[in-house]
Amino acid sequence: MKIICIGRNYAMHAAELGNAVPQEPVVFLKPQSAILSHRHPFYIPPWTQDVHYEVELVVKINRLGKAISEQHASRYYEEVGLGIDFTARDVQATLKKQGHPWERAKAFDGSAVVGHFVSLDSLGKPVDDLRFDLRRGEEILQEGHTADMLFHVNRLISEVSQFMTLQVGDLLFTGTPSGVGPVHSGDRLVGSLEGIHMFNVNIK
Ligand code: ZN
Repeated sequence: MKIICIGRNYAMHAAELGNAVPQEPVVFLKPQSAILSHRHPFYIPPWTQDVHYEVELVVKINRLGKAISEQHASRYYEEVGLGIDFTARDVQATLKKQGHPWERAKAFDGSAVVGHFVSLDSLGKPVDDLRFDLRRGEEILQEGHTADMLFHVNRLISEVSQFMTLQVGDLLFTGTPSGVGPVHSGDRLVGSLEGIHMFNVNIK
């Protein structure tokens, strides 16, 4: 399986990092080894001083497909979850300056938190009308609404599948809303989707 990630998919997040709003989705991958089960702590790697949380809606692909049209894209998923795209922001800034790929900053072990999944049926809401948040104790770090995505889920599936076959079990991280920030040892991050607890991560 692969983890497909979308960058700059919320206008306010693109702005907070000083990036232009993209004309087409920004796509990158994380390997399977990046997955952090929600029962495990996240250890800040020794080679970065600035790991950021990015909470994101995660869509689980449940059918094999390529060159999927936008109007058929909803047939390729049923369950959604919430995850964190941990990013070594200091490393990413250096790579961006050099025009290099982002894997050192984005694809490291534990960088993809994946929580529970729930069916859209059970939520009773369309994928483009889901609210989610990330908290640290009482503090709300990020709040997102999938209606605010620049490229909505079906468009992302269509775009990505034009050049990469989607396989059963692939995970699509759909981009983060604004409010990203650094993690600190001792933090406990809790993610909720439509009021349902989806994961918690202890930072070590
Ligand atoms: Zn992200």
